[in-house]
Amino acid sequence: MQRNLISLLFVFCGLTCLAQPHIVAHRGFWRTEGSAQNSIASFQKAAEIGCWGSEFDVWLTADGVPVVFHDATVEGIRIEDTTYATLMNIRLKNGEFIPTLQQYLTEALRWPQCRLIFEIKPHRNAKRDNMISELSVELVNMLGLADRTDYISFSKQACKRVHELAPKAKVAFLNGDLTPQEVKDLGWTGIDYNAKTFEKHPEWPEEAKKLGLEVNVWTVDGEEELRRWAETKGIDIITTNDPDKMLNRK
Ligand code: MG
Repeated sequence: MQRNLISLLFVFCGLTCLAQPHIVAHRGFWRTEGSAQNSIASFQKAAEIGCWGSEFDVWLTADGVPVVFHDATVEGIRIEDTTYATLMNIRLKNGEFIPTLQQYLTEALRWPQCRLIFEIKPHRNAKRDNMISELSVELVNMLGLADRTDYISFSKQACKRVHELAPKAKVAFLNGDLTPQEVKDLGWTGIDYNAKTFEKHPEWPEEAKKLGLEVNVWTVDGEEELRRWAETKGIDIITTNDPDKMLNRK
C-alpha cells in the first residue's frame, strides 16, 4: 500500500515538473511568411504550429461593426470615428483586408484546437465599452465558440460587462493596476499582466494561483526570456510574438 502511494507521488511530481505554460500567439503568429498582425492568416498559422491560443484585438467602428485590428487608428483614420465602408478596402501587410470579427471567428471554426484570446480594446466611453462587449459575446455565442473563448481587456468596464453577460466565460484583466485579490473580488478569472508588472510584484503570480486565478504574462519574446518565464512559478500562460521559438524548444 505504502509502495503504491510512493509510486503515485513520483508520477505526480514527474507530471508537475513537466508542466509547461500554455503558449499564446500575440496578435496571431505574424513573424512568418505570408502573415500580418491580426490577420486571418496569423490565426491559421498560430493554430498550424500548435499554439494553445491565439490573441487578437477588437474595435467597434462608428456604425457598429466589430473589426480585428490593434491600433486605434488605421492610416490616420480613427476606427471608432469611421464607418466600416471606409476601412474595408485597406490592406494589411500580407495583402489581406482588415477582417471583421465575424470573418475572423468564422475562420476560427476551422481550427477547433486553438483557443481564442479575445481582447476588447478600451473604447471612448463606458457606453461604447458596453456596446462592443455585448456584440462580442453575442457573436461568440451565436457561432458556438463560447467554450474556447477567453476575454481580456485593459478596460474595467469591458471586463465587468462581459462577466455580467457570460458569467461562465474566462475574463482576465490586462492593465496591471489591480491586485490578484481585487480581480478575484470582481469575479474575473485571471490576471494577464505585462512582464514588468510581475517584476515589480513578483509575489503576484503565486498569490493569484492561491486565489484560483489564471496567470498570463505578456509580451515575452526571445528564447532566453521565454525560458525564464516558463520557469517562473505561478505562470500558466505566456503570450509571445515568438510562439514558434517556444513550441520548437524541447
Ligand atoms: Mg492585444
